Amino acid sequence: MRSLDEFASGKLAALQGARLLRTPVVTARQGIYAERGGRRLVSFSCNDYLNLSRHPAIIKAAVEAAERYGAGAGASRLVTGNHPLYDQLESRLCRLKRSEAACVFGAGYLANVGIIPALVGPDDLILVDELSHACLNAGAKLSGAAVQRFRHGDAAHVELLLARHRAAHPRTMIATDGVFSMDGDLAPLAELSRLAARFDAWLFVDDAHGLGVVGQGRGSTFANGAADVPLQMGTLSKAVGAYGGYLCASQPVIDLIRTRARPFIYSTGLPPPVVAAAIAALDIIASEPGYVAEPLRKARMFARAMNLPPAQSAIVPLILGESDAALAASATLEREGFLVVAIRPPTVPKGTARLRFAFTAQHPDAEIERLATAVHRCILRSQS
Ligand SMILES: *Cc1c(COP(=O)(O)O)cnc(C)c1O
Repeated sequence: MRSLDEFASGKLAALQGARLLRTPVVTARQGIYAERGGRRLVSFSCNDYLNLSRHPAIIKAAVEAAERYGAGAGASRLVTGNHPLYDQLESRLCRLKRSEAACVFGAGYLANVGIIPALVGPDDLILVDELSHACLNAGAKLSGAAVQRFRHGDAAHVELLLARHRAAHPRTMIATDGVFSMDGDLAPLAELSRLAARFDAWLFVDDAHGLGVVGQGRGSTFANGAADVPLQMGTLSKAVGAYGGYLCASQPVIDLIRTRARPFIYSTGLPPPVVAAAIAALDIIASEPGYVAEPLRKARMFARAMNLPPAQSAIVPLILGESDAALAASATLEREGFLVVAIRPPTVPKGTARLRFAFTAQHPDAEIERLATAVHRCILRSQS
């Protein structure tokens, strides 16, 4: 065997042994349903919180944009890929996030690995919540700045780290998820923004799971009164139902990002149909507050039925511990007709493998009740 294949096979065997091997499973989504291996399951493992990826008006906008502007952008935005729809998308983001300017990237992941190194470098300091998303950590690492992880959601720990380390660095960033992707809780943004002001640090919030769901759809920055967040980042791939990442910030910051963030400079612009879909989706988010409130209402209903703490977003975790336990629970729910994917390390810390339930506007209340009953009967009872 060639050394390359030998290397890959060895790694795979080790992952399989630790029950950490992951493979994409063919899944046909249709609204709240997911079809796998010929079976139709009610899915609680999709981030399309408002079911907008299937909305007729949004699909129509995408089709029309494909016909008018083509299937692809043809070049990066700084060359000829900046088609006319980008301006419309960025101005809608500004309006929704109440920011001066906005910049759209190819994906949320690309946004984070682009924005952070464009703003901080090797002399600087980044404080990152320990449960922040992988791409926030990737951006921090790529920047070359000193990285200090703070205890999850712990503003007092941030204060301690700032008091200890801030003076040694010209620039400091505090970076956190707004809604934590695997836990569903909110970052303490009011406290963090006060600390940022006191220590002259720049607060960066990744709101991938907040936009369209909390703060009347404006995101976590607006969830508990409006916090002062100068760097509001997020994705267009979750509640917006399309694809792409964004940063909302002041005009000078956005102008700098557009000329310095490498994934913006060196990667092709988004396909016009994707941008058109995001525009149509943001129009719905801005104009239908009742619909936008539904995923959180459903998540709260489930959390109540499970005797869990009140849900703060559309995400409710049920932590089971070892990967085996999470995989077995997922398989049990699949037999009951539910798709709830097990989340394992390295996506979550060791020993906290879990089921992650994601609720969408169109999950019928009756299905949520049936799910809660099944979890009680099949998983919690067999554990105790
Ligand atoms: C999904 C996610 C991203 C990545 O966004 P994509 O647009 O899917 O690349 C970034 N941050 C968080 C917190 C996420 O959950």
